[in-house]
Amino acid sequence: MGMNDTIVALATAPGIGAIAVIRLSGVDCVEVVSPLFSGKKLTTQKSHTIHFGNLMDGETIVDEVLIALFVAPHSFTKENSLEISCHGSPYIINRIIQLLVRSGARLAEPGEFTQRAYLNGRFDLAQAEAVADLIASENEASHATALNQMRGGISNEIKNLREKLVHFASMIELELDFSEEDVEFASREELKALIEKIDVVLVQLIDSFQLGNVIKNGVPVVIVGKPNAGKSTLLNALLDEEKAIVSDIAGTTRDIIEDELNIRGVKFRFIDTAGLRETKDQIEAIGVERAEQKMQEASLIMYLFDLATESLQTILDTEQMLVEKGKPYILVGNKLDKVENEEVSLIANDHYVSISAKSKTGVDQLKDLIWSKSQMDNFQPGNVVVTNARHYQSLVNTQNSLHDVLRGIDNQITNDFLAQDIRHALHYLGEITGEITTDDLLANIFSKFCIGK
Ligand code: GDP
Repeated sequence: MGMNDTIVALATAPGIGAIAVIRLSGVDCVEVVSPLFSGKKLTTQKSHTIHFGNLMDGETIVDEVLIALFVAPHSFTKENSLEISCHGSPYIINRIIQLLVRSGARLAEPGEFTQRAYLNGRFDLAQAEAVADLIASENEASHATALNQMRGGISNEIKNLREKLVHFASMIELELDFSEEDVEFASREELKALIEKIDVVLVQLIDSFQLGNVIKNGVPVVIVGKPNAGKSTLLNALLDEEKAIVSDIAGTTRDIIEDELNIRGVKFRFIDTAGLRETKDQIEAIGVERAEQKMQEASLIMYLFDLATESLQTILDTEQMLVEKGKPYILVGNKLDKVENEEVSLIANDHYVSISAKSKTGVDQLKDLIWSKSQMDNFQPGNVVVTNARHYQSLVNTQNSLHDVLRGIDNQITNDFLAQDIRHALHYLGEITGEITTDDLLANIFSKFCIGK
């Protein structure tokens, strides 16, 4: 995979469209395209100009196209780049790409444009990864965090921490050179104070991963309740579409049904489970077991009961059980339309809301409660949030290494060991932004991108 190759790929989604964009990058890409283009001579044109003309396969016109020209280093990849806007027919797209390959370009690997941008210093690795997140973003929250990261959010934090540590590392290494003499260039007290300061930032970043993870993958909310409480109906009311099966026979929601819903720009994953009741039915028993497991994994448990049939005692007992689980929970009294006197209003606490899933009464209040109980109030679009498991792991490794340094100072270990522990911390921090990297790591990251990105 040569860095000087001219690479080509379809940048727009495959399929029929009004137009499609084919992208090329590489030092010779203008020379590859220019002889095929009937318009102006591309090799003499300025950067950031657009040219209209025919793309020719010998004497045959393949398509009327627009060619946008980006001359190095003023392009996404920092290389010479071209974007050909053609008509969005898969036949035309294929013919143009084949023509370009015959003329000296090669098909790009997944993520190769972004990889080149990274290797040419357009941005660091964390920012390159944010490009993929940005493309995958499907709501306000994941969009805001990806954009923040692409613009350097986590990278800036990491660079700050790293610079401070590098200073101490070099001082301690200097001490090693003077090991015969009893000199101390790096004050151990200052180093400890710095590590403690860094630790505060690391803890914040590490803790933000939980939020980052749910922003990326959705907040898991488990709906539990007896069969016929109205779980499927509620799910449908929340989703506003008929996805779960609704029936009058108790125990029909045997399997776990998951669905997604955006509330205030954040994705929530609703997991509709079989009821919690004891059962002799084998299939249903498996369902109950899985419901338990899903509750363990959830960020929020929503207990739904039928106001018309559930006894106050059962509700209070269930609440007690939820309190013991130690997870955020909501009690939802359903079928409000069927009851005259709402006895359960006695349990008026801030975990409770009564609704009618059928007529959609109270569903908005329920959404409010879901939002606040799943602690989404903590989410501020401008904050740096770790969304990437690789970054999370490197941060945890950094923290462990720094704790080794602190212990080392307290135990007065020799300078070479101290320097080694600091170097480990620097290594892990550098992994995040790509200052420290391996070919395998890069291949792994960029292979997850789509072709053309
Ligand atoms: P699940 O077993 O918990 O998933 O319960 P379903 O959603 O299948 O609902 C069971 C029955 O209760 C169905 O006949 C629903 O139409 C009915 N139901 C659900 N919600 C309401 C409600 O708010 N009011 C009334 N009157 N009936 C409801």
